Amino acid sequence: MANLNIQHAKENTFDAIVIGSGMSGGWAAKELTEKGLKTLVLERGRAVDHLKDYPTTNLKPWEFEHRGTIPADIQKENPVVSRCYAFREDAQHFFVKDTEHPYVQDKPFDWIRGYQTGGKSLLWARQVQRWSDFDFEGPARDGFAVDWPIRYQDLAPWYSHVEKFVGVSGNRDGLPNLPDGEFLPAMELSAVEQYFKGFVAENYPGRDIIIGRCAHITGNAEYYAKQGRALCQHRVLCQRGCPFGGYFSSNSATLPWAMKTGNLTMQNNAVVHSILYDETKGRAKGVLVIDALTKETTEYYADLIFLNASALNTNLVLLNSTSSRFPNGLGNDNGLLGKYVAFHNYRAGVSAEYEGLQEYTTQGKRPNGGYIPRFRNVLRQETDFLRGYAAGFSGNRAILTDHSDVGENLENSLLNPQWGPWRVGSHMMGETIPKEASYVALDPHEKDAWGMPLLRVSVDYDQNDEAMIKDYIEQVSEMFDAAGFKNIRTRDDKRAPGLDIHEMGGVRMGHDPKTSLLNKWNQLHACQNVYVTDGACMTSTSTQNPSLTYMALAARAVDHAVKQG
Ligand SMILES: Cc1cc2nc3c(=O)[nH]c(=O)nc-3n(C[C@H](O)[C@H](O)[C@H](O)COP(=O)(O)OP(=O)(O)OC[C@H]3O[C@@H](n4cnc5c(N)ncnc54)[C@H](O)[C@@H]3O)c2cc1C
Ligand code: SF4
Repeated sequence: MANLNIQHAKENTFDAIVIGSGMSGGWAAKELTEKGLKTLVLERGRAVDHLKDYPTTNLKPWEFEHRGTIPADIQKENPVVSRCYAFREDAQHFFVKDTEHPYVQDKPFDWIRGYQTGGKSLLWARQVQRWSDFDFEGPARDGFAVDWPIRYQDLAPWYSHVEKFVGVSGNRDGLPNLPDGEFLPAMELSAVEQYFKGFVAENYPGRDIIIGRCAHITGNAEYYAKQGRALCQHRVLCQRGCPFGGYFSSNSATLPWAMKTGNLTMQNNAVVHSILYDETKGRAKGVLVIDALTKETTEYYADLIFLNASALNTNLVLLNSTSSRFPNGLGNDNGLLGKYVAFHNYRAGVSAEYEGLQEYTTQGKRPNGGYIPRFRNVLRQETDFLRGYAAGFSGNRAILTDHSDVGENLENSLLNPQWGPWRVGSHMMGETIPKEASYVALDPHEKDAWGMPLLRVSVDYDQNDEAMIKDYIEQVSEMFDAAGFKNIRTRDDKRAPGLDIHEMGGVRMGHDPKTSLLNKWNQLHACQNVYVTDGACMTSTSTQNPSLTYMALAARAVDHAVKQG
């Protein structure tokens, strides 16, 4: 029996374990395996293999039973995920349904999840921007949250490292608040976007309109062919999984790359229950896993553990990892685990029409949009709220073809499309302030089907967010009006936090173990062979889309872990 146990422990022992195979876990796996570590990736969802498991990728619109929409009964049963714009018939199989994985909303919170190989990297909108020191220094300057233990220079080489592999299309815009990266050729702004860019540059110093920086391959085809990926064809059906590997996902890029090293073991349907702590050694020794299908439990061992289960699930796993040394969750000496959760404020939008530029139209598709980098409170505090917002900005010309007739008249209408006015739209992407009162915790009674405690979420907007929404609406409406845009409409859709899908924090980085959970290398202060490199580690949220920063932090942390020996 003893021999059998030793054999079992040997078979289940790896150099490193990565929990979660999504955006950040994929990067941890790639870097660990490339550096020669035998690595086990534990993924709670089913296997989704690149190309093979994209069932809708080549379907025509009329081949969808519900013409692309989600039937009303499914929407009714799953109100949270149904509020996500990308939850459509062609990609619904990549989303977690509310009914499958319940959680407790102490305050309304739309938690959007993807439980499968690749996590949400299959579904994302692929916008990637670097942070600048205006972002990293924000908390220290404004006095909210705690000081980040790193600055832009710590991450800059890792941003480059990640961008080169991912493939990022963008312009070198030379903006101090949005550092340039390793870019492939940029996509183009439409005529009305170019007009607005020029107008804003002339009339609003310090404000810019740029083409989005997005994780699509637009050049250097030979390099990406080595990953089995090809140039983006602008199909704009990305959320189905791309048959060209034109956009970056863990499925198309990091995981196959890691597999090629021969050092990756990928285990699906493996729900990590908790991280096991060795009281004698004062280190984590492995993880306890529940088989999602059979509910059997197994232990796996490694001296190095990367936790990348996505921000809130990472909090859940740590809170659930109790021992005599850590009765309130692994690394939770200061009682702050699960607290200071923040998100991005996407509540507001402004749209309008433009009657000029009639000599131009748009042609083809573009899996990207324009971007307005943050311009409020960058160089100095100028408003009554802290921090600021970035914004999306896009403009297209609509076709207003008359479909009302039949026969020859309809044919003529279709063959001679009538172009309507330019339509422009913007949505805000505001930074929110991490607060102790915004937290996640384990429900003391309710458990899920695998015996894991349900997560309780208590996260909300505050007065700072309300003031920011007001300012965004005023500023963008004013710029639209000054540019000659008409029929300006504004909205505050009062959506719950979470629908931005950029939830962050709960295991924040910091200098001081009394006020933070992770050090500057993303190691738990109190259990240094556990690294957290997904959104849970974020000390503040900035306004930029966060995934590029998670990936860069993951690559940097692996480098550190391996150098430690
Ligand atoms: C529609 C949409 C649009 C988006 N657009 C953008 C964008 O433009 N730019 C941007 O930067 N970000 C965007 N995002 C957010 C982006 O997808 C996430 O930031 C990113 O995927 C987070 O990476 P992650 O590794 O933390 O989590 P995920 O990618 O979600 O991966 C986490 C993985 O961990 C697994 N897991 C969870 N719990 C356990 C457990 N207990 N045991 C084992 N495995 C577990 C999950 O199944 C999942 O596969 C978007 C997201 C969506 C859905
Ligand atoms: S737009 Fe590009 S990345 Fe998206 S599905 Fe089409 S080819 Fe693939």
